[in-house]
Amino acid sequence: MRRLYWFQNDLRLADNPGLAAQAEGEQLLLLYLWPRQRPWCHQNEPGPQRQRFLVESVRALREALAALGQDLLVLQGSPELVIPQLVEQLRIDRVATARTPGAYEEASLARLKRTLSVPVDVHQGDTLFAEADLPFPLAGLPAQFTPFRRAVEEAATPLAPVPAPATLPPPPAVPFDDTPAASARPPASLPLRGGRAEGERRLARFVSPEGGLYRYKETRDGLDPLDGSSTLSPWLATGCLSPREVAAAVADCEAAHGSNESSYWLYFELLWREFYHWRALADARSLFRLHGGSRKRRLHNCTFEPRNFARWCQGDTNFPLVNACMHQLVETGWMSNRGRQLAASCLIHEYGIDWRFGAAFFEKHLIDFDVASNYGNWQYIAGVGADPRGGRRFDQVAQAARHDPEGLFTAKWDGERPKQPDYVTDAADWPIGH
Ligand SMILES: Cc1cc2nc3c(=O)[nH]c(=O)nc-3n(C[C@H](O)[C@H](O)[C@H](O)COP(=O)(O)OP(=O)(O)OC[C@H]3O[C@@H](n4cnc5c(N)ncnc54)[C@H](O)[C@@H]3O)c2cc1C
Repeated sequence: MRRLYWFQNDLRLADNPGLAAQAEGEQLLLLYLWPRQRPWCHQNEPGPQRQRFLVESVRALREALAALGQDLLVLQGSPELVIPQLVEQLRIDRVATARTPGAYEEASLARLKRTLSVPVDVHQGDTLFAEADLPFPLAGLPAQFTPFRRAVEEAATPLAPVPAPATLPPPPAVPFDDTPAASARPPASLPLRGGRAEGERRLARFVSPEGGLYRYKETRDGLDPLDGSSTLSPWLATGCLSPREVAAAVADCEAAHGSNESSYWLYFELLWREFYHWRALADARSLFRLHGGSRKRRLHNCTFEPRNFARWCQGDTNFPLVNACMHQLVETGWMSNRGRQLAASCLIHEYGIDWRFGAAFFEKHLIDFDVASNYGNWQYIAGVGADPRGGRRFDQVAQAARHDPEGLFTAKWDGERPKQPDYVTDAADWPIGH
């Protein structure tokens, strides 16, 4: 049997049930397709740091595969066009991949299945639980996090990580070109590298008695990476690490060194990720709608003022901490959870801009871009998603005083900008005199 395994956000050998299922067979073609930016909101390709982190992750996977006599075919193009051609040319009998959230991703997979005449196996995706172990069907998934968390904590146990395959069938004779080099270098301010080994190193360092695990609940709101929160998200989002591996590492550390509220809280945050992943699968297209799944129309957050959007993207608003966070995002590809909340609240609630433009800008730049967590969190802050309070408008001045009291982060990221009027034209585009 000749098989094809299509890697998506699961760039690793260990704890990859879909890959483990390919161990038998005569030949195995391993494929990766560069992700495309969701074609909307004027963002047309992944930003330089996101691309770099992906290139490094793909290169690391190729090195790990080489040790098993395998390689990775890395191509551009949509799966429903590329994969059928490969299936035909190489007379592939079976295609497999892992389940991934996202309406475009799911539509692409559905088209692929319709086009192919060979079976397509969709394996366990990067969630802690199997769908069958959830205490509710996908259609009955709680709309909010707390009931979801309570029910899964009571009824489900995270799946145990599965080992990497010891052997894999050899690849067919296809030209495995070199992975193109990344155009960007890792910034000195956050020299994180893609790839499994780097992710494992970060995990081992953080989830240890000397690492940040046992202080996490108090420090997780910090604005700098590697200094409060785990900063595991880039490896989780690319699949260099799986959430089951992180949960297992926390459980092992707790078994050896004890648990406290902080060590539990890292698992608690993984449950947020889990919630958004299942919600994204349940919500499908409404994850990308202005009003989410709601029929209620809101009058705010439905404008588009290009000048204010440009100011927000460039970190040139009247909110110095938001500016600092936006500069950090564009330079490093990462932003703290608190920074993301403040930046999103600023775009939505101060400027009244359609939240999806902000989500698309994050999608372009974040090295940890994850469709479910990104769009789910944006909806939450816009009040069209899972927030029981109907949206979060943060008091930017109070938040800056609380999270950056001495202004060090703001100064480091050049957040102070000359104040400007928010609107320079009226609704009919006439200049407003100030
Ligand atoms: C507007 C907005 C957009 C976001 N976009 C993304 C995104 O594209 N990708 C992404 O991984 N996270 C996203 N998040 C969630 C969160 O900000 C990041 O997961 C977190 O900042 C990553 O840093 P960390 O690994 O140090 O997190 P930690 O605090 O150490 O948390 C550990 C892990 O738990 C998960 N997690 C933590 N908080 C959340 C959350 N609120 N929602 C979902 N999962 C969470 C992540 O996998 C994270 O790596 C977004 C949040 C907001 C408010």
